[in-house]
Amino acid sequence: MTEPLPIAAVARVLVASKSVYMTVHQRPDGDALGAQLSMALTLGKMGIKIYMANEDPVPEKYRYMPLSKRIISHNPAALKRLPAKFDTALVIECASLKRAGATGAIAKRARNIINLDHHLGNTNYGTYNLVDTSAPAVVLLADALREVMGAPLTKDVAVNLYTGIYTETGGFRYSNTTPEVLRFASRLIEAGVDPRWIGEQVYEKAPLRHHKLLSRALESLYIRDGVSWMTITCRDIAATKARDEDMEDFIEHARSLKGIQVAVFMRETSKGEIRTSFRSKAGLPVNRVAEKFGGGGHAYAAGATLTGMTIDEARRQIATAIRAQAKGESRRS
Ligand code: 5GP
Ligand code: MN
Repeated sequence: MTEPLPIAAVARVLVASKSVYMTVHQRPDGDALGAQLSMALTLGKMGIKIYMANEDPVPEKYRYMPLSKRIISHNPAALKRLPAKFDTALVIECASLKRAGATGAIAKRARNIINLDHHLGNTNYGTYNLVDTSAPAVVLLADALREVMGAPLTKDVAVNLYTGIYTETGGFRYSNTTPEVLRFASRLIEAGVDPRWIGEQVYEKAPLRHHKLLSRALESLYIRDGVSWMTITCRDIAATKARDEDMEDFIEHARSLKGIQVAVFMRETSKGEIRTSFRSKAGLPVNRVAEKFGGGGHAYAAGATLTGMTIDEARRQIATAIRAQAKGESRRS
């Protein structure tokens, strides 16, 4: 039997706190930010002091999210001004504290760490671990907490939660689009969310450099043995003056091809690392592949950072890992 989720216990800890520090994983996405900002609004209204710091900035397209300007990132002076102690730290969508980078280490200053996540392979590093790998998005867990606390679903809270569920399901298309998800989304629309407006903010406001870089990414695409491969090099990034956040949706184009099982998107970073995204369309658990390179995620969407090798070498090692995983899977079934 699995342990019941400690939702009520976590809600009690949060409500009893005078100060709460919140952080999410590096390169934050809509789901992580949605949970962070909805909780910040809810707890802030209760008179709790809220501090938010993330390793990487809020991507431009998510800056409409209420309270997003309050998140500290890339600001050493503001980080220094954070209190030496917090009652509670809420760490969101981090399978390990390392996933939050330097802002994860700050969580250790808190008396209690609440680990709020829905990823496989979570290391249960919290004082309280509210980890539900069956949750379609972490915003659903944040909303469950809000409900237990008896806090209202205001329009601003709903906008943050909707952004999370909308992006995490790829616009209600991925396998995590359950009946519960659509019921959740309809409650959020009833609370005042305008889906058309959010759709526009997230998916229809790309800067030109995004499309210029995408054209290079599409040029690099090819399919081999049921795997689609897409690559972006430092040179592509320099030529288009693109940012990391511009590439968030590129994997979608590798994923949306006919006849593939797995999509892989590799991009060089300025530090010489190779950030890799994996998507699975036919049930091969790509989190297993990502784990071989120190990453993780979900069965259908995962990521890892490979270091100390060229892109060609990374491609070889990843192809081998995918083949091994596919073999292991067919042996088991
Ligand atoms: P993306 O490809 O969009 O960056 O990530 C896909 C999924 O895998 C997300 O749920 C993300 O949190 C997870 N993920 C991405 N990179 C890593 C990583 O380096 N480590 C772990 N544990 N999870 C990751
Ligand atoms: Mn998520």
